[in-house]
Amino acid sequence: MHVLVINAGSSSVKFTLFSKSNLQVVADGLVERIGLKETRLSYRMGDGSLTSRNVQVTDTRQAVALIADLLLDNDQKESRFQMEIAGIGHRVVHGGEWINRPVIIDSKVKQIIKDCFDLAPLHNPPNLSGIEACEDIFPDIAQVAVFDTAFHASIPEHAFLYGLPFQFYREDKIRRYGFHGTSHQYVSRSAAEFLNRPIEELKTISCHLGNGCSITAVDGGNSIDTSMGFTPLEGLVMGTRCGDIDPAIIFYLMSKKHLTHQKVNELLNKKSGLLGLAETESSDLRDIFEAQKAGKQQADTAVEVFTYRIKKYIGAYVFALGGVDTIVFTAGIGENAASVREMTCRGMDRLGIVLDPKKNAADQNGTREIQHQRSKVKILVIPTNEEKEIADQTLALLSGGES
Ligand code: ADP
Repeated sequence: MHVLVINAGSSSVKFTLFSKSNLQVVADGLVERIGLKETRLSYRMGDGSLTSRNVQVTDTRQAVALIADLLLDNDQKESRFQMEIAGIGHRVVHGGEWINRPVIIDSKVKQIIKDCFDLAPLHNPPNLSGIEACEDIFPDIAQVAVFDTAFHASIPEHAFLYGLPFQFYREDKIRRYGFHGTSHQYVSRSAAEFLNRPIEELKTISCHLGNGCSITAVDGGNSIDTSMGFTPLEGLVMGTRCGDIDPAIIFYLMSKKHLTHQKVNELLNKKSGLLGLAETESSDLRDIFEAQKAGKQQADTAVEVFTYRIKKYIGAYVFALGGVDTIVFTAGIGENAASVREMTCRGMDRLGIVLDPKKNAADQNGTREIQHQRSKVKILVIPTNEEKEIADQTLALLSGGES
């Protein structure tokens, strides 16, 4: 038996097939550049070798059909597939205030995903297309939605409300929702398992640093605050997003620079962050590091702004939690950029947060501790695995666990 995880984005569909018994990956891959020239299918089957070829795919449904063909045993298509797939877990970005856990997909759930189109215009529509394609192609297999926002449903009102007139929350549901929930949930639970401590007694600050970056305060397994807000634009400085700014800057830009609101939106989401600060061609931190090596001072400044913001949030969350047991770094930057971890944790000795420089710089994969022996706080690097978390939650729900 297997569980299939589907992550349908605006121009790609990613899939991971897990074995149900031990959640080992059996196959994974993606169809990318859907609807564009040179649409490509890349995948790895059990033996680990990567295969890649150009394909004719113009929409999500065709991409899912292609994935189904790939995974099917060609001799006995339908029946074998239905026998082998216990359920399909879908990543869905936004469930608004209505969803706080994984759910079996029915017409009500699809309506909620639609109702949240305005809140996540780039993600929810393709997420729903992926669900509908799977419903067509695998009509007899249970479909589960796992929402990025769900883990943050436990954030209390004093942390999710903005200082706006209450009417805008009441009528328009303007509030902090938070994102990357599946990742924060996965790494905070993994931290408890790794440290062999009951999650109920652990205070964790989880730093998800990838292209998008967010940081979450997790108390006893529950998110109590997170840096992304109504949209993923708030909080940390990211690859191309500005994170927290004074909102008055928007009006200043509109009136002084005569920018339309679409232009400002694009500026803050696509042209700011590391990219905008460093004035580099790319927002990839590895390219910013290259610029640093080439002596570009602005690249140094960009990394300083980036890490200072993380440090500031850690400080805020230590107080929000009333202390911290473990700080976790995850995602592309968090897992790989030792210098970012070092700059973030620098100068926090008095707070009992001390990195071990050798452990931090060691070229290692997998979950590891990187704190100094005199550090009171455990500092962990944990590779995130959102697909595995979705598979896990899908199986738990289908086997009658959480619902
Ligand atoms: P996404 O948010 O798209 O899932 P990832 O978690 O894969 O992104 O993170 C991607 C980012 O991680 C890249 O843009 C790059 O900046 C950073 N990254 C990946 N590997 C390294 C590395 N070895 N050193 C520094 N940064 C890295």
